[in-house]
Amino acid sequence: MNIRSVFLLTLSTLVLFISSCSNRPEITEQNVSRIISTLSSDEMQGRHAMSPEIDMAADFIAKEFSKIGLTPFDEDFKQTFTLYSIIPSQSSVSVNGNELEEHKFFSITNTDSVRWSLTDVTVETINESEDFREALNTYRNDDRSSIITVSEAHSEWFSRYRGYYSRANRTLDIDQKPNDLFVLTNDRVRSANVEIFNKIETQPLANVVGKIPGQTEDEILLFSAHYDHIGVVNPVEEDSVANGANDNASGVAAVIELARYFSKGPKPERTLYFVGFTAEETGGFGSRYFSEQIDPDKISAMVNIEMIGKPAVEGGNTAWITGYDLTSFGRIFDENAPEDFDFYADPYPNQNLFYRSDNATLARLGVPAHTISTTPIDVDQDYHQVSDEFSTINIEHTTNTIRAIARVSELLANGEVTPTRLPEESIK
Ligand SMILES: [Zn+2]
Repeated sequence: MNIRSVFLLTLSTLVLFISSCSNRPEITEQNVSRIISTLSSDEMQGRHAMSPEIDMAADFIAKEFSKIGLTPFDEDFKQTFTLYSIIPSQSSVSVNGNELEEHKFFSITNTDSVRWSLTDVTVETINESEDFREALNTYRNDDRSSIITVSEAHSEWFSRYRGYYSRANRTLDIDQKPNDLFVLTNDRVRSANVEIFNKIETQPLANVVGKIPGQTEDEILLFSAHYDHIGVVNPVEEDSVANGANDNASGVAAVIELARYFSKGPKPERTLYFVGFTAEETGGFGSRYFSEQIDPDKISAMVNIEMIGKPAVEGGNTAWITGYDLTSFGRIFDENAPEDFDFYADPYPNQNLFYRSDNATLARLGVPAHTISTTPIDVDQDYHQVSDEFSTINIEHTTNTIRAIARVSELLANGEVTPTRLPEESIK
């Protein structure tokens, strides 16, 4: 090949590259501003996952997805499911013929009633020399229903855990796991009579999920942001709505704008998913449910976006990535960033942020799932406050950040780069 043909080839590749990029719609400040101001308006009452107003937020996102022309994940854009609250109501436990006082037992149950005698369960013991917490977790997670006697030497930890498990317990799986009863006694159990009653409340919830089919359905690039927030809180100067403009209307704006960006121009190689997760703030139930409906091995990467409404402490036009060293995801963003933008490792490793957002659920299944954020979390006065308002958002910075994410995601979408999977041994 001579110099001239190399030149022509380079030129044609360049023209192809520029034309393929320029077919994409522009990510505009107007759209970013419109989405954040709508989701963070007082009308939405802070988007608590258990509030009626959460539906307004979900409807808004679904409508945006529909206008953009995304393919609904199911019959429509909402992936609905039920969250159960199991509230201990009444119980009586007799061991060896003696009715136990309330502070001598607690149960971990996920059904409305449990009635046992000794023949229905196995009996286990946590003795003095064992680590109580470790043993409790082992019995809690095994697949048998048990009565576990706990040595009185552990009475302090026992009463702490009793306090914890006496409160409502939220779960996605009801009637599916075994039930356990912990009894504080040094005696051997010869007979038992157990009756436990729980009140069960149900809460319908919904993720909002749209997709752009790629050349293959077997490789998925997932963009996500939680759309719920903490709702109404103690009033500060008559304002009681925690608006969640930065946390996380800004992330949702990114997901919607990335959807708009990829909706026109060349068809991506990978199938793209755009997800607004619910109930992140109440235990990450949206991402947990989502992760159970999809084969995680098909997800090539998860770009989770949290709080990009304010410039990072390191400056505007920069963003950080949680769990940077765990896979090659962070390096891919770093090396392929636009010239005027920097991606780098999360500057707050002590805050454990990798495990504090929806990405962690998918990361635990091996997906290179990371959160991109710009929030100055160490100095920000508005985090989880009524002052997390639209007026504090830097729209130019937010838009630039979304553009930078779009630019690198182009390579992930067309299959040119693939982050390494999350190694099992590095998962906590
Ligand atoms: Zn958040």
